[in-house]
Amino acid sequence: MTTTTASVAAIRKAIRDVPDFPKPGILFKDITPVLHDPRLLKSAITLMAQPFEVERIDVVLGIEARGFIFGSAIASYLHAGFVPVRKSGKLPWRTKTVSYALEYGEDTLQIHTDAVAEGAHVLIVDDLLATGGTAGAVLKLVEECRGHVAGLSVLVELEFLKGRERLSPCRVASVVQY
Ligand code: AMP
Repeated sequence: MTTTTASVAAIRKAIRDVPDFPKPGILFKDITPVLHDPRLLKSAITLMAQPFEVERIDVVLGIEARGFIFGSAIASYLHAGFVPVRKSGKLPWRTKTVSYALEYGEDTLQIHTDAVAEGAHVLIVDDLLATGGTAGAVLKLVEECRGHVAGLSVLVELEFLKGRERLSPCRVASVVQY
C-alpha cells in the first residue's frame, strides 16, 4: 500500500457518521476526529493541497465554517493568501452577496469586495461537497469579482449527490468519496 493510499484509508476510518444531525434523515460526516489526530490533520491538508501544487493559486477561498479550518492551512502550503467567505452579516467591510437555494429555504454568503482581484487565480476549499449548491454560489461570487477559478478542493465528496456534475466544468478534487 502506498503512503497516500494508507493516509486516505486512515482518514476515511476516522470520519464519524452521525445519523439525524442536524435534522432527521441527514447522515452527518463528522470530520473532527481527523482534526484531532496530528498525523491525519497533516495528511488531510497535504492531500487537499497537492492536486493544485503545480498550478498558479493566488488566493484560497474558505467557506464558513469548516472550510476555514482547511483553507488557511492549504493557503499556507500553496504560498497563497486566504479569503473567508462568510454567512450574511459577519464580514465588517463592503461585501458582494450571493443567495442560493437550500432543500428548505435559502442561504446567503458574502465576500469582501476587494478580496479577489480581477484575474486572480482562486482555489475554493470546503470540508465536504454534497449537492454543490454552496460551492456553486461561491463560483458565482468569484465570477462577479472577475477572478479565475482553478478548482474546488474538499476532504469529503458525497458522490451520489452529483455535486461535481452541477459544478462542471470546475475542476473538483476530493480525498475521500462516499
Ligand atoms: P452542498 O451545498 O449541498 O454541497 O453542501 C455542502 C455544505 O454543507 C458544506 O459546507 C458541508 O459542510 C455541509 N454538509 C452538507 N451535507 C453534509 C453532511 N452529510 N455531513 C456534513 N456536512 C454536510
